[in-house]
Amino acid sequence: MAQFGQGRAREWCGAHGLPILGPVMNGTVVLVGAGQAAAQCIETLRKKGFAGGVELVGDEPHLPYQRPPLSKKYLAGEVGLDRLPLRQHSFFEQHGVRLRLGRRAEAVDRTQRHVTLDDGSALGYDALVLATGSIARRLTVPGHDLTGVHYLKNIADVDLLRSEIVPGRRAVIIGGGYIGLEAAATLRHLGMEVTVIEMADRVMNRVVAEPVSRYYEAEHAGHGVRILLRASVSGLIDDGHRRVCAVDTTAGRIEAHFVLVGIGVLADDRLARSAGLACDNGVVVDEYCRTSDPAIYAIGDCSNHPSPHYGRRIRLESVDNAFEQGTTAAVNILGGNQVHDRVPWFWSDQYHHKLLIVGLSQGHDRMVLRGDPRQNAFSCCYLKDGELIAIDTVNQARDQMAARKLIAAHAKLDPVKLADASIALKDCA
Ligand SMILES: Cc1cc2nc3c(=O)[nH]c(=O)nc-3n(C[C@H](O)[C@H](O)[C@H](O)COP(=O)(O)OP(=O)(O)OC[C@H]3O[C@@H](n4cnc5c(N)ncnc54)[C@H](O)[C@@H]3O)c2cc1C
Repeated sequence: MAQFGQGRAREWCGAHGLPILGPVMNGTVVLVGAGQAAAQCIETLRKKGFAGGVELVGDEPHLPYQRPPLSKKYLAGEVGLDRLPLRQHSFFEQHGVRLRLGRRAEAVDRTQRHVTLDDGSALGYDALVLATGSIARRLTVPGHDLTGVHYLKNIADVDLLRSEIVPGRRAVIIGGGYIGLEAAATLRHLGMEVTVIEMADRVMNRVVAEPVSRYYEAEHAGHGVRILLRASVSGLIDDGHRRVCAVDTTAGRIEAHFVLVGIGVLADDRLARSAGLACDNGVVVDEYCRTSDPAIYAIGDCSNHPSPHYGRRIRLESVDNAFEQGTTAAVNILGGNQVHDRVPWFWSDQYHHKLLIVGLSQGHDRMVLRGDPRQNAFSCCYLKDGELIAIDTVNQARDQMAARKLIAAHAKLDPVKLADASIALKDCA
């Protein structure tokens, strides 16, 4: 095993016996939240030569793992638990990372610079990284706490959900966002009767253009999934044994053997709030991923960060963002001056279709359809004052690759050329 320090950097002790602020080259970095962002941050710290102590605290019993398969191949039973970890035990061992899994960080003492865990132990830090992710938004209607009401956020949720899967049973999914729809596709594939209830007038309405919503609604209908639009849930019905048996909606009562709730997530900024850090829809950080306390960083789903590209603050829930912010924070902990300024991207797999979203479409003044949804490959391009700001692509990976460069370059595109799918996207500038 390589040799890494485990103690705090005494040579940096300031007047109060606490390390002074500056590049952390030999001290201790504590990361809270053992997910995508933390795993990437650790990898970058070691790659860049950080030789100090690394402590990783995670309240789940698992090594940091990938969540995307949870609504797809892991739910379908096509990949096992062993395929989910982002890095194996040996990686953490070789990189001198002290794992504290199944342990929750409960408080941060910013004056003494230590984190208290739920077993009462305290971990001193020179730099603290909050990578606490997000939490599923809970349903609050009557009956929300009945047995048979599920969420889909972590491995434990999926394991519980999987125990409900029996072909022919009725699943009601509340929420037609990407998690609800991915789960609908998987449950249908497993032979369940699936109904999706969506409040808006189209699925995934917050994240994709209307042609994409309509395409996916038709795909789901074609696979036998019933989608109820403009329908809201007023209560879940008890079968008399504290188990859900139906869902009351504005479109009527729908029988259910179980319910899956996918109505969005909230940033998990609870630890940061209790530590008095600035929070507003997530932990507020600057472009270097630093919180209002310069010794503390926040990365991934839990961070609310400035986007120099879009000129506003954003909070993202995507693997790409967790990965990139994990890298940026590590570089900056080590004294770098790296600005996090990336064009975000996101994917969703439903049936055999690949949806890729690049950029953020809010504020667009024109949407141009490229290609024909009936051909199963098309893109929706969002323009603002002629500049390409975002794109949704369905089974059109080529456009997605070109769009990433064009969006980053603030390229202005000719809408007439853009609408002609025979012209390569890069030639529309
Ligand atoms: C079902 C599902 C499917 C998804 N599919 C896609 C997809 O197709 N494409 C895509 O780009 N993104 C997808 N995502 C989103 C993506 O997985 C997340 O954006 C990403 O995992 C965020 O990484 P993170 O490190 O910020 O948080 P996470 O990976 O969520 O890790 C945070 C961890 O911190 C732990 N934690 C929180 N508080 C504490 C505490 N006080 N003490 C100790 N531990 C704590 C949490 O329990 C959690 O384990 C999906 C997410 C889900 C749930």
